[in-house]
Amino acid sequence: LVVLEGVNKHFGALHVLKDIGLTVHRGEVVVVIGPSGSGKSTLCRAINRLETIDSGTIAIDGQPLPEEGKALAQLRADVGMVFQSFNLFAHKTVLQNVTLGPVKARGVKKAEAEANAMKLLERVGVANQAHKLPAQLSGGQQQRVAIARALAMQPKVMLFDEPTSALDPEMINEVLDVMISLAREGMTMIVVTHEMGFARKAAHRVVFMDGGQVVEEAEPETFFTTPRSDRAKDFLSKIL
Ligand code: ATP
Ligand code: MG
Repeated sequence: LVVLEGVNKHFGALHVLKDIGLTVHRGEVVVVIGPSGSGKSTLCRAINRLETIDSGTIAIDGQPLPEEGKALAQLRADVGMVFQSFNLFAHKTVLQNVTLGPVKARGVKKAEAEANAMKLLERVGVANQAHKLPAQLSGGQQQRVAIARALAMQPKVMLFDEPTSALDPEMINEVLDVMISLAREGMTMIVVTHEMGFARKAAHRVVFMDGGQVVEEAEPETFFTTPRSDRAKDFLSKIL
């Protein structure tokens, strides 16, 4: 579903993505881990075309990423993204946050968008907060709204960039639980996280990045118990 081939990206003299090749199949859950600065966020941003690439190709569902215009808006709808900082619209209610995209970008009628949004808010456990502003919610609740907002666009794939790392510990699981249930329902997901529990429970594959390269790919159990590369061993010894 998502295919990257020979992807390179520089920021000035800094080579942040080095010849990245990665294929994520439909329904597959891939966890991306690696040290700070290894290029994980840049990779996510490139897949959503929030960042351009210098060479190589990225295709979703067989289509190369569009450059601009309507096709780009469609891509952004197809690729749901959830960030570390929740990025909700601060002056809109929870419900408006979830309906805005479908109404503006997909042309869905307001009543239909609201009904669908309420179902999604129900599903992530925050339906009773629908008429509040984001600032009135806890971090865990805001992040679940962000997930509902992305789902409202009926994405083909969901990207998560460290979705729980800005949360207080007691709120991490409520967000991970939503992600685990999404994974079990067959959503295609690319998740940057250091939450090993999530990787073990939900991931089909772990991709280890270091220095802008994909250094190692394996099933979670294999990766955590018997990493092959010294770089992965070193990284795991620091976080486990
Ligand atoms: P972290 O775990 O800290 O989030 P990461 O793996 O997500 O790290 P990236 O954010 O992708 O890493 O950054 C990769 C490298 O690119 C880093 O050296 C970073 O400083 C650099 N970088 C990222 N964005 C930019 C930018 N807009 N301009 C210049 N350099 C950037
Ligand atoms: Mg990052």
